[in-house]
Amino acid sequence: MASERMLQFVGREQSYPDKRSANERARDFREIAERYAAPDADEQAARCSQCGVPYCSVHCPLHNHIPDWLRLTAEGRLREAYELSNATSTMPEICGRICPQDRLCEGNCVIEFSGHGAVTIGSVEKYITDTAWAEGWVEPLHPGRPTGQSVGVIGAGPAGLTAAEYLRAQGHEVHVYDRHDRAGGLLTYGIPGFKLEKEVVMRRIDRLVEGGIHFHLGFAVGEDATLDALRQKHDAILIATGVYKAREINVPGNAAEGVIAALDYLIASNRKSFGDAVPAFDDGRLDAKGKHVVVIGGGDTAMDCVRTAVRQGAKSVKCLYRRDRENMPGSQREVANAEEEGVEFVWLSAPESFTADKHVKQVAVAGMRLGAPDASGRRSPEADPGRKFDVPADMVIKALGFDPEELPHLFGSPDLSVTRWGTLRVDHQTMMTSLPGVFAAGDIVRGASLVVWGIRDGRDVSEQMAKWLKAKAKSEKKAA
Ligand code: FAD
Ligand code: SF4
Ligand code: SF4
Repeated sequence: MASERMLQFVGREQSYPDKRSANERARDFREIAERYAAPDADEQAARCSQCGVPYCSVHCPLHNHIPDWLRLTAEGRLREAYELSNATSTMPEICGRICPQDRLCEGNCVIEFSGHGAVTIGSVEKYITDTAWAEGWVEPLHPGRPTGQSVGVIGAGPAGLTAAEYLRAQGHEVHVYDRHDRAGGLLTYGIPGFKLEKEVVMRRIDRLVEGGIHFHLGFAVGEDATLDALRQKHDAILIATGVYKAREINVPGNAAEGVIAALDYLIASNRKSFGDAVPAFDDGRLDAKGKHVVVIGGGDTAMDCVRTAVRQGAKSVKCLYRRDRENMPGSQREVANAEEEGVEFVWLSAPESFTADKHVKQVAVAGMRLGAPDASGRRSPEADPGRKFDVPADMVIKALGFDPEELPHLFGSPDLSVTRWGTLRVDHQTMMTSLPGVFAAGDIVRGASLVVWGIRDGRDVSEQMAKWLKAKAKSEKKAA
C-alpha cells in the first residue's frame, strides 16, 4: 500500500542531480552529474504515485520493481531498496547512469504525461546502489553447490557478465573469454568516463573475479581457439560477442590520414583514462587536441566522440548528420549536453568527399532534406542540390554504426547459423543457436542495442542454459 510519504509530485518539482558546469566538465572525464544527497533522493522518490499498473516497470527491459524501491527510498529504508533493486539487475547503478531513461522508464512515467515531470527513476536507482557499495551492503558473489559442470562465455560485456554471474551463483564453473585485456565490453572501452566512470565498472568485475569466475583476457576466439575447441572443454557455451564491424562511408578521400573509426578513437581515449600507453594516441593520430574535428553520424557513438574531442582540447568540434534533430537516433539529452559543451551540430548534411594531401584538410558537404517516409516510417534523407559547403577538418571520425562480424567464418564453425543481417540465429524460446549447447545473447543476437537489453538477455539466457545443463547432467547419469 502506498505510504503517506508518497504522491508528492504536485507540490514537489522534478529535480535531477545538478550537472557540473560545462566549462568544468569539459576539462576532465569524470561523470557530468553530481550525485543526489540523501534528502534529495528521498524527496524525489516520494513524488511517485505508486501506480497500480506501473508503466515505468512495464517499459523497463528488466521489469525492475520501480515503485517498490522508490517507496522504500522515500521511507529511508535504503538497504531494503537496494536488495529489491539488486534482485532484478546485475548492474543497477550502471543502468541508472546510462540507460536512455527518457525512452524507457521515465519516458513512460504517468507523472510525465500529467505534465509534472517524470519521477527521476534513473538517478534514484544510481543513488541506491552507489550507497550500497559505499555502505558495504553489496554482498560477494556466493557460488552455489558445485554442479561439476563447466560453462564457457565468449565476450565479457554486459550480456556475458550477467549470464556468468547467474550461472556461477548456481554452482557452475564459469570461464569468460575476451579478446580485450580488460573485461566489461563496451562498458569499459566504448562508453566514455563522463557517462560512466571506469571504477564503477571495475568494482563489478572484481566482484565476479572474487566469486570464482575465471577470466581469460587477451583471448580472441577464432585466433586463440576455435569454437569447437571450446565446446570440447565446456558443457555449454554462450556467445555474447557484441557487434564490431564498423559501417563504412564510401566517399573519395576515405583512406586519407586523419580519417578514423569511432571505436578506435574511443578505445584509445578510454585506455588513456586507465593510464595505458597508447602509441597511436601518444603520437597524436588518435588525439583531438588542437584539431578541427568533424564527427559523422547521429547515434550514441557519435555523441560520445564529439564530447570526447571537446575534453581532449579540440579547436572546434562539428557533428554532421544527414537527418534533423528530431529524427536522430541518439539521445536528446546527450545532444543537449554536447551543445552545452560547445559542439556544433550541422543537421541535414552528409560528406561528399574528404580533401587531403595525404592528411585530411576539409570535408566537402552536401546539404540534405527529408523526403517521404520509408518502410520504418522515418523520412528518408535525400540530397538538397541547392546546398553545398566545405568544413575545415584535421580529424574526421566515422561513427555510422556497427554490424556483426562474420562469426561462422571467424570461429571456424560454418554450421553456426546467422540471419541475413549477420546476427546469430537463435531459437527464441531456448536462446540456443543452431549448434547444440551453444547459446547466444546481447548485441550479437539483437544487433546494436542497449546495455540494459544485454543484461536482460544475460539473465534470460542463464535460465535457459541452466535448464539445458540440468537435462544434460540427468541424461549423462542415466547413460552411466
Ligand atoms: P559488448 O558490450 O560489445 O561486449 C562484447 C565483448 O565480446 C567485448 O568485450 C569484445 O571484446 C568481446 N569479443 C568480441 N569478439 C570476440 C572474440 N572473437 N573473442 C573473444 N572476445 C570477443 N548503451 C546504453 O544503454 N547506453 C549508452 O549510453 C550507450 N552508449 C554507447 C556508446 C558507444 C560508443 C557504443 C559503441 C555503444 C553504446 N551503447 C550504449 C550500447 C551498449 O554498449 C551495447 O548495446 C552493449 O554493450 C552490448 O552488450 P554485449 O554484452 O552484447 O556486447
Ligand atoms: Fe530505467 Fe534502465 Fe533502471 Fe530500467 S534499468 S529502471 S529502464 S534506468
Ligand atoms: Fe511511480 Fe511513475 Fe512508475 Fe507510476 S509510472 S509507479 S508514478 S515512477
